[in-house]
Amino acid sequence: MTIAINTATVDIHPDAQRFFDRSHQLFIGGRWVEPLAGGSSVSVDPGSGRQLTTFAVADPEDAVRAVEAAAAAFDETSPWRQMTATARARLLFRLADLMEKHQEELAHIEALDSGKPLAVARDFDVAYAIRHLRYFAGWADKLEGATVPVNVPDMMCRTERVPVGVAALIVPWNYPLLIACWKLAPALAAGCTVVLKPAEHTSLTALRLAELVEAAGFPEGVVNVVPGPGSQLGPVLVEHPYVDKISFTGSTRVGQEIARRAAVGVKRVTLELGGKSANIVFADADLDHAVAGAAGAIFSNAGQVCSAGSRLFVERPVYDEVVRRLSETAAALRVGHQLDPRCQMGPLISQSQLTTVTDYVRQATNSGAHLEAGGPADPQDGVGGLFMAPTVLSNVRDDAPITREEVFGPVLVVLPFDGLDEVARRANDSEYGLAAGIWTRDIAKANRLSSLLRVGSVYVNTYGQSDAAAPFGGFKKSGYGRDMGRQNLEYFLETRTVWTDLRL
Ligand code: NAD
Repeated sequence: MTIAINTATVDIHPDAQRFFDRSHQLFIGGRWVEPLAGGSSVSVDPGSGRQLTTFAVADPEDAVRAVEAAAAAFDETSPWRQMTATARARLLFRLADLMEKHQEELAHIEALDSGKPLAVARDFDVAYAIRHLRYFAGWADKLEGATVPVNVPDMMCRTERVPVGVAALIVPWNYPLLIACWKLAPALAAGCTVVLKPAEHTSLTALRLAELVEAAGFPEGVVNVVPGPGSQLGPVLVEHPYVDKISFTGSTRVGQEIARRAAVGVKRVTLELGGKSANIVFADADLDHAVAGAAGAIFSNAGQVCSAGSRLFVERPVYDEVVRRLSETAAALRVGHQLDPRCQMGPLISQSQLTTVTDYVRQATNSGAHLEAGGPADPQDGVGGLFMAPTVLSNVRDDAPITREEVFGPVLVVLPFDGLDEVARRANDSEYGLAAGIWTRDIAKANRLSSLLRVGSVYVNTYGQSDAAAPFGGFKKSGYGRDMGRQNLEYFLETRTVWTDLRL
């Protein structure tokens, strides 16, 4: 099939253009430094194939330098450790204010680097990144311990909450700045120091964030940013004896590797991994709402979302109608360059991602799946972007690879079901357990099904809601620990129990 690609775009924000025009080094120990091996990489706009800028790429020795800088900044006598929690909070608020001041610039950099529509980058990614900083800044000076009523005469026992130490933050390419900030904010609020490693395809907003960290006045070494290949930097960041905690978001395969390596050093680890989330539409749902919600659940960010509602279960009496209406919605979505104001879905991140996704669709249709909308697109002469049409498939088996495996693209499989118990069993029949959606007018039914689903987030008559205050994470191979919310602070804190003999 051929998709019409919009290519009319707004001008690049002048500050974003200035960012692209300057060189970008590694941010280690509060300084911008050249990588020891002199490596560099090129950032490419996935919507046009045009080069945006070049940036320095770290090698393992640079990762060691970054860890050492973070460890020095965590030294007992360092300015960061001497600072009051309220002063830490003030720095986080200042960073949030600076990001707000540069929101449009950051949105342009993010949209061009990652392929997401500009409005989404501005109003979701950057706006929520700022919200995370402010939410966790508020917690920084409220981390109370407890007085423990122990059964020992004349003994006082109390607990303190203390930072875990140096945290390695390893993030993926689908929400580069947002995920960086939802890890950075609790880490810094807790008093940790960090090494942030952005994903290979999307390092730019992390580098701009580092410039703003510098401008906000954080002590040197508290935040270090080292772009580079995860396969080389990852093992250093996970195994280095000075690293105390790893907060990782990415694929289950890499998460498993990190868990294995981290076990040797008994490191604290949180893993936010893949998903294959069920979105469940009952016959009594408000179908206008459910169809729009189901489309948003899979086509937002071109389906490159860990919690994407990629398995749509529809109760049999309304199955044909939902498939038809969803296919019409998919066909009407405007795919285009991310700076086109009319764009609703941008390109995929890379050629290899596009190939992976289209291969899944071809394999499914070769095995008998019906293509209701979309499908692999013909190359677009002169467009140069990595576009794919929003795709809807029916007549797919529960055990087909496209139903079981994470595709990470704008591809929806629609499966009929008969009754709550059956759909609960089929929804849970997945190695993942990140999220699920339920669409019904019967709230008792929604609550009953919600209690049966083995997932970290359930959305009832909505999908993919997110807030800094709401914990997010997975069951099963979708990972462990939680990002966001008060709960995430716990993963950057240790509890110290202090006993004092009151008789002396
Ligand atoms: P990925 O696992 O390939 O890469 C993620 C990060 O890990 C990148 O920074 C990469 O450089 C780094 N990395 C690669 N190899 C490493 C290694 N051996 N050791 C340490 N780090 C290494 O994932 P991706 O392709 O960038 O992102 C897509 C995946 O992320 C999907 O599976 C998606 O579901 C998942 N994801 C999960 C969530 C969530 O919150 N659960 C959110 C977004 C994305």
